[in-house]
Amino acid sequence: MHLSYWEKTTFFNKIDYAIIGSGIVGLNAALTLKKAKPSAKVAVIERGSIPSGASTRNAGFACFGSTSELLDDLETATKEEVLELVELRWKGLQKLRGLLGDQHIDYLNYGAYELFQSEKKFSASADRLNELNNDLRAITGAKKTYTIADHQITNFQFEGVQHLIKNECEGQINTGRMMTRLLTLAKESGIQIYNGITIQKIEKSPSGPTLITDQNWKIKAKKILVATNGFATHLLPELQVKPARNQVLITKPIPNLPIKGCFHFDKGYVYFRNVGDRVLLGGGRNQAPLQEETDQFGFTENIQEYLLELLNKHILPSTKFEVDHWWSGIMGVGKVKRPIIKPISEHIIVAVRLGGMGVAIGSLIGEQAANVLLKQ
Ligand SMILES: Cc1cc2nc3c(=O)[nH]c(=O)nc-3n(C[C@H](O)[C@H](O)[C@H](O)COP(=O)(O)OP(=O)(O)OC[C@H]3O[C@@H](n4cnc5c(N)ncnc54)[C@H](O)[C@@H]3O)c2cc1C
Repeated sequence: MHLSYWEKTTFFNKIDYAIIGSGIVGLNAALTLKKAKPSAKVAVIERGSIPSGASTRNAGFACFGSTSELLDDLETATKEEVLELVELRWKGLQKLRGLLGDQHIDYLNYGAYELFQSEKKFSASADRLNELNNDLRAITGAKKTYTIADHQITNFQFEGVQHLIKNECEGQINTGRMMTRLLTLAKESGIQIYNGITIQKIEKSPSGPTLITDQNWKIKAKKILVATNGFATHLLPELQVKPARNQVLITKPIPNLPIKGCFHFDKGYVYFRNVGDRVLLGGGRNQAPLQEETDQFGFTENIQEYLLELLNKHILPSTKFEVDHWWSGIMGVGKVKRPIIKPISEHIIVAVRLGGMGVAIGSLIGEQAANVLLKQ
């Protein structure tokens, strides 16, 4: 289809900033740009009819790190780097809540728990609990961010769980409401959001970059932000970011559901929480890492069986439940657990690789990316 003269000279004309991807990063970047330059034309281009990556499909944990996750991170990064990331996640969550309002995202401070099935893994965390609490005090303000909460194993009715460590400072949100609120704010700010357009290529030229769409026409913009996370290498193959699929289920409502809060298991590879009186459970990609290194949505028997077994045997062993619904989402991950924000050329920057932390850091990364564009 060719654009009409009218479409060409209005919708897609004189775009100052084009943002590819309407996830949490793209929308936050757009909001920051529009706030800094109200007269600028800011356009967000999204391939899906709604955002179609991770931002509308995640678990809604407002989290910044379980003990075993932080100890695992310390294996490959310095303490300063690990604490810097915790702080980014913490501050990002404050920013998200401040921008959107707790009432618009159903923020609930039920806390989070880490489950341990083995004494050895528990000891590794328990032995360093004081150290972690001291380190995190300056960030969370809590005297003890982490406490041993074994007494709650019986209340939650878990089976085969030896120990629990509670994080008082983590909460949960309604992911769908977070994204609808962000989209509302973006539209109210005068940001143009174009859905159903896939960018296939970015062409660089001295007169500025051009986006080649899947619709047989092009979009010119003065500056471009690539915020396509797990799909980033389609446009920029040189980036060190890989897709990671996560499969998720939610049960039907369960009367007198014994669990409340967010729960991390196996260094965060498995996560579950209550959503009202339902249980949401997802993850387990480390059970089949190569198979899940894909940007194709979908399900596989092995991961579904693994998650169902966890639910049946350990999480809800004495409670009747029915699975209501399955879905999957695509994250962007890398060897280094850090987002990439960097200029690709004078007019193009990229902000991707949010890992499993995007609810927490997405707002700040979007803002930082916009600030890089504004300074260019
Ligand atoms: C199942 C699951 C559970 C998670 N749970 C949590 C959690 O509890 N807490 C937490 O902090 N984080 C969690 N995350 C991670 C978090 O959701 C992500 O880090 C975050 O949403 C990433 O946001 P983004 O804007 O970078 O990317 P995305 O939300 O993936 O947005 C990228 C957008 O780009 C679009 N796009 C891609 N290619 C193109 C193209 N060529 N042209 C046009 N548009 C394109 C996509 O359709 C997509 O909408 C989870 C992720 C998943 C998948």
